[in-house]
Amino acid sequence: MEGTFWPYVAGIGVWSGLTHLILLLLLVFRKDGETPNKLARIYLGVSLAWIAAVAFSDLEAIFLPVVTDTAERFLPPLVASLMLLETLLACSFLEAAALPAIAAAGGTWCAILVGAAAYLAVRPTPDVPLLEAAVGGWGVLGLVQIGLAIRGLARSRLALHRNRALYWLLTAVPLTGGQALSLLPIGVWRGAGPLLHLLGAVALFRGVLSLWLPNVVALLRSLLRFLFLAAVTAAMLIGIVLGAEALKDLVPPIFPPTVLLVLLAGAGAMVYLPLYRVLTRLADRLLEGMGFDPALALQEYSQTIGGILSLEQLAAVAVGTVAEVLGVQRGALLVATETERGGLLLQPVPGQGDVPEEPIELEPISPILVRVRDEDRPLFQYEVEHHPILRDAPAREREWLRNLEMEVYLPIRSQEGLVGLLALGAQRGGEPYSPREIQFLSTLAHQTAVALQNARLVEGLQDLNRRITQLHENLRAAYERLARLDKAKTDFLAIASHELRTPLAQVRGYVDVLADLAESGVLTQEQIRRIAENISRPTRRLENIINAMMDATQIDTEGLALHFAPTTIALIIRLAAEPWHGALKERNLTLTTEGLEDIPPIHADMERLTQAFSNLISNAIKFTPDGGRITIAARPLDEEHFEVTVSDTGIGISKADQELIFEKFYRVGSASLHSSGEFKFKGGGPGLGLPIARGVIEGHGGCIWVESEGYDEERCPGSTFHVVLPYKAHRGPCRWKRPTETEPIGDAL
Ligand code: ADP
Repeated sequence: MEGTFWPYVAGIGVWSGLTHLILLLLLVFRKDGETPNKLARIYLGVSLAWIAAVAFSDLEAIFLPVVTDTAERFLPPLVASLMLLETLLACSFLEAAALPAIAAAGGTWCAILVGAAAYLAVRPTPDVPLLEAAVGGWGVLGLVQIGLAIRGLARSRLALHRNRALYWLLTAVPLTGGQALSLLPIGVWRGAGPLLHLLGAVALFRGVLSLWLPNVVALLRSLLRFLFLAAVTAAMLIGIVLGAEALKDLVPPIFPPTVLLVLLAGAGAMVYLPLYRVLTRLADRLLEGMGFDPALALQEYSQTIGGILSLEQLAAVAVGTVAEVLGVQRGALLVATETERGGLLLQPVPGQGDVPEEPIELEPISPILVRVRDEDRPLFQYEVEHHPILRDAPAREREWLRNLEMEVYLPIRSQEGLVGLLALGAQRGGEPYSPREIQFLSTLAHQTAVALQNARLVEGLQDLNRRITQLHENLRAAYERLARLDKAKTDFLAIASHELRTPLAQVRGYVDVLADLAESGVLTQEQIRRIAENISRPTRRLENIINAMMDATQIDTEGLALHFAPTTIALIIRLAAEPWHGALKERNLTLTTEGLEDIPPIHADMERLTQAFSNLISNAIKFTPDGGRITIAARPLDEEHFEVTVSDTGIGISKADQELIFEKFYRVGSASLHSSGEFKFKGGGPGLGLPIARGVIEGHGGCIWVESEGYDEERCPGSTFHVVLPYKAHRGPCRWKRPTETEPIGDAL
């Protein structure tokens, strides 16, 4: 009996070997030449060699019972080595990155085995455990393979990726199982080995060739459901048969046994049908295959979105509806706008989950753009990563989509074309969307189009309104500024004529006096000296004003001509304050300095900086009531810059004027309040002191600004002028960044 059975076992091996060969040929003649296919070809080639070796050893054992010594030693280790090689390839399939390490380990092992086999062929030594070594290596690699498949499963974030990983894991079962069976001694189980392996090879072939794989979890679930219902039905049938058998002896023989069986079967069927319905529902509930009513969900959705006019709300409601029905955790609306150069701008509006909001412009020739614009079907993230055409999309676009962490993008179209995409993450349980669910989502996306367009229109109008309001505000501010400057110019005429006329009148008066005295002929030496002195003072003042005007013009035209040389800030401040000692005394003001000596020597135009600080000190004197304090403090800021502050306890400057006072001819308040005294309280000048100071400081690569609580002659909040200068003066803008208003500065004061 046994002897006749074995040829069939060997026949199975031959037959499954042939099928492997067909699969291999199919793969070889597929002309896409992609890397996974190349690996798959080698894999099937090795599988084929393995099956050939198994079949050969079977045939040999059956038909050549008197085996040669060499063949007996050779064949089993050869089979096991080929298994080792095959598992090695499977590992690299699963983890391309691990290929070098796995290949090195497995390759060395194979080489040792081949070497040992060759050695044995020459010098037969019966005790070398060649087979055990090969099987051991295969076992270790088999465990690595399973580990890699499980790791792939744990790592995949997308449902479709997970599905693929699960598919590979399940494929490994028949492949490795088939190999394991072929290690058994000859018999039925060993014969089943190649067959089981073939099953795995077919699954592998399917997985390699097609991007879309069946939903493995759903398949397992249906299988479980089927087995459960089949088991219950079988139990029922067995019950009827056993029942008929038992009743036959118990019940008095009124009915013939066949009739009894028919009666029992009828009764059983009556109980079974409602029971089956209950059981199906129970199985569905247990296996979570519960359905939902798409029609109801869509009806409720279309009623809700009717009145929505904001994109955020629309995104929240659309994703919320899907979340309720399918348990999706993440989702967003990607609002699409065609750009002038033919690209597509996608702006995410988060609906649920922490979705990044920066927009992206898809290139006009991007395969992703072409796909979503021209094809009215959902795009899966899985496709973006694996589809041969979509994989060629710009890396920036693929990265952006990956960062969204979505599973599927459903086009939202209006008559004008694509207006957006509904992006959704994985659904509850992380299973891939079924065709029915995709159908539901596509309809939902379709219904969203009108609401999306309305919301965009309204947002566009609101944006326009905001921009007009802003423009209006800017215009008003510009108008106010112009009005102030215009007033300053008008004032200037009054001030300039006053400023110039006052000293001129003085000169003229003294000249007249001189003429009268000269006529009378009684002009003493002393009188001449006094009159000359009285003429010289207003002349100096005239000269100062004209110089200031010329400086201001120079700043505006070609900029000040500055000559940088080594100096110190302490010296500059001393020179700047010197002319004002008399005024400080007369007005009973105290001037103190702090930290000037701590500033290392600088490189600057000493004369111009002295002029700038002199202007600041003169202003502090003019706008501080008698008895007040003026403080000049210096402190280092960073390796490149230091700061000098000039603060007073004067009348302060209103926020509105804090920028404008640095404009030419601008002075606060009315021109009529002007007093010609150089250091009288509130005595104004031509409004050129600060513009010149700013010109000098900016000419050094520094910056100047003022801080004051506001203008108040009663309370006298004071003003602080901040001057930031580089240790080494340079042309060009200030490199130091001014702190924002919330950060306290000037703690040195
Ligand atoms: P002016 O020649 O009029 O002093 P400036 O350019 O030096 O011109 O100053 C412009 C205006 O800024 C002054 O008229 C004054 O109103 C205001 N201002 C300048 N420094 C101070 C200060 N320390 N306190 C209050 N107001 C000041």
